[in-house]
Order: sequence, then structure tokens, then C-alpha cells
Amino acid sequence: MTTEQLLQWDRTHLWHPYTSTIDPLPVYPVARAEGARIVLEDGTTLIDGMSSWWSAIHGYNHPVLNEAIRRQTAEMSHVMFGGLTHRPAVELGRLLVDEVLPSGIDRLFYADSGSVSVEVALKMALQYQISRGEKGRTKFATIRSGYHGDTWHAMSVCDPVTGMHGLFGTALPIQFFVPQPSVAFDGEWDEACLAPMRDLLETHGGEIAAIIIEPIVQGAGGMYFYHPEYLNGLRALADRHGVLLIFDEIATGFGRTGKLLATYHTAITPDIICLGKALTGGYMTLSVTATTKAIADTICSGEAGCFMHGPTFMANPLACAVAHASVSLLLSQPWQERVRSIETRLREALTPLGGHPAVAKERCLGAIGVLEMREPVDMKRLIPLFVKEGVWIRPFGRLVYVMPPFGIISDDELDALLRGLTNVIEHYPTND
Ligand SMILES: *Cc1c(COP(=O)(O)O)cnc(C)c1O
Repeated sequence: MTTEQLLQWDRTHLWHPYTSTIDPLPVYPVARAEGARIVLEDGTTLIDGMSSWWSAIHGYNHPVLNEAIRRQTAEMSHVMFGGLTHRPAVELGRLLVDEVLPSGIDRLFYADSGSVSVEVALKMALQYQISRGEKGRTKFATIRSGYHGDTWHAMSVCDPVTGMHGLFGTALPIQFFVPQPSVAFDGEWDEACLAPMRDLLETHGGEIAAIIIEPIVQGAGGMYFYHPEYLNGLRALADRHGVLLIFDEIATGFGRTGKLLATYHTAITPDIICLGKALTGGYMTLSVTATTKAIADTICSGEAGCFMHGPTFMANPLACAVAHASVSLLLSQPWQERVRSIETRLREALTPLGGHPAVAKERCLGAIGVLEMREPVDMKRLIPLFVKEGVWIRPFGRLVYVMPPFGIISDDELDALLRGLTNVIEHYPTND
């Protein structure tokens, strides 16, 4: 098949994420990827600014991760997790409990993807409430502009506008939304941010099973960084009203924000944590929903006698093995220093662009740099300009952002990525 034929077949038969089949955006055929570089079929090399949506923190084709997969394949690629267990599942679990998760969050459920881990977290919260006789608590509370995945209940707690609740009409469960905290990560904290959630819990607390939130960084819903005090406040409110607190760390986990988990920017521990994306270093899909012994025990002492979930590919050994290798690799490196130095370089590059008339504001946190444009960007026009600059940056809505593979990208590659970004934005047309 020639590249042309490949693209033609793709265009005719394959859905891409959030893309029309009638008028699809162009796609670029990737031949291979290595380190922080993606190589297209025509030999064009692009420096990766996306980490394949938060996941490929060590870049691509990493010898250590490749070896973990190869070794595990020689033992077994998969066995069912019902009635059986294996070293990859146990060793990964132990590493997460000992080195990654807050103390006390030590009961783990392996699931297939981020969205599924969110479904699992919501089901855990419901079963927990049912088990302690709170059968009326069937709803969830969250803040606007969140993103928690594309499956049914996960979708119901995404921002009602960008998540297009209207489109699905009454088929989607109705949840409670309050405004996102207006104080940014490094802003001056204002207790008033908590008032909407306090009011909601005072009036509807008895109907709510849990609050679900992306800690510190709202990802796909708007790339917004808010103040850690908000989460400390949520913890107190949740406790007062018998509501569980779920942190969706699928995007923020494993160092991206400068802390191993975004939870560690706060003084508190949630009841349930979802991990995914960078868990396997971007090699394959795997997620974890982690909770406390007390919550697990309450769920399992209820009417069902167990937690009612069990995916076919639960704790897939290949995924667990590569996740163990990826997390170990991360922890063996001075990643905090690296993320800090990337944050500094992102700031140096993005701050001047903040003055461009087409840019509303810029912000950086850890290895995430965001330009919020005044108008939605024309992806069809912008992406080819980035490709021409030799960088892979995929904007959405009004957001042009980079989150490079911080575990592997060199200073030169980062400079080239930011130069490409700068060149495109500096020539960005303005309406005036
Ligand atoms: C990506 C993402 C999800 C969904 O994960 P999938 O693996 O795409 O199902 C959920 N929550 C957050 C915060 C995410 O960034």
C-alpha cells in the first residue's frame, strides 16, 4: 500500500477522535517514533509537544519499556484476573502503594482505560453509600469545565457545555455543577470560591454520593490551573456532608505538574484516586482506581458482598509490566528537577507570546504550557504550519498548548519545539 492509498482508506473507513467522517481533518501517517521525535512516512521528523495526550512521558520506543514488554510477552501476554493473579499485577500495585499513592490509599482496582476507571470510581462511591444505608445518594457533584472521559457516567460529569449534554438530552444522568474556582494556582486565595459548593451541599447534600474533580489542573475541559486551597476546602465540605471526594489524576499523575500526583500540591487526601494515561508511559491502555481499606470494606460488607465490576482484560500482564517499568524509570530519575527546568523554559518562551494580540493569556505549570487564544483556532490551518516547523502540536478550541515528554526531551529539542510554537504564533493573523 502506498502512503496515498493508506490515507485514502483511513479517510474512507476510520473514525478519528471527535472528527467528522464527511469532512475529516487531515491526518499525518506516522512510520515510527523514537525518543521525543515522531517520524512520518515521508521521513519528516516532528518534535513531540503532546506526549500523546499526557501519556508518553518517557517518549517513544524506549529501550527499558520495550524490554519490559518483550520479557513479559515471553511469559504470558494475558490471563484472566478472576481466580488468578500474577507478579506484574502485584509488583505494580506494591510500587504504586509504596511510592506513588498517599498513605491510606492502598486498595487498587485495575481497569482498562481512564474513562473506565472513572466509571469504577463512581460505582465505588454509589456502592459505598448504598452499603451504609444512604440509598438516596445517587448523584455526583463537580465543577464546570471538567473532563472525566467519554463513557456514559464519565460524560455526565464533564462540563455540560463542552461535554455537549444537550446533544444527548435526557439520556444522560443529571448531575450537580458549580462554577470552577476563579482563583488561579498562583493567585491570592479567596474563601468565596467555596461558597457555591457549600451552598449546593447544604441544599442537596443528601442526594450526593461523591464530588469528582481533576485536582489542580483541568485538562481537556480548558487547561486551567486553580488554587490548591480549593481542594483543602472541598475535603472539609465533603466530610461534613458524608460525601466522598474523588480525584481524577488521569492527566495529572506521574510528575506532569511538578509533583508526583497533583494531590501533593494540597494538604489533604481524597477518598478515591483515578490513575491512567502516563501510568504505562503511553505504551498501552491501563488504569487504576485506588481507595482506602475502610471504603473497600464498606462496599464489600453491603448487600452485593463485593464490588460489582470485572473487566475481561483486568490487570493485563503486559500493561502492568510496562507500567511497572515506566513508574520505576520515572522514580529513578531526577524528574522533579527536570520538570522544574522545563517549566522555566516554557515560561520564558510563552510569556512574550502572551502579549500577542491574538493571545488572551498564557500560563505554565510543571511541564504544561498553555496559550489561551481570543478566538477558537482554525486547526485545519494551524496544524500544517506546526508540521512545517517540525513540531507536533495539536490545539483544540481556543487552546494552543504543549506538554512535552519531560522524561526524555533534550534542551535542544525543547528549544526547537518552543521556537516552532513561537514562529507560528508570531505570524498568527489578528482581526485588527
Ligand atoms: C483522558 C482523561 C480521561 C479519560 O481517559 P481515557 O483513557 O481516554 O478513557 C479521564 N479523565 C481525565 C482527567 C483525562 O485527562
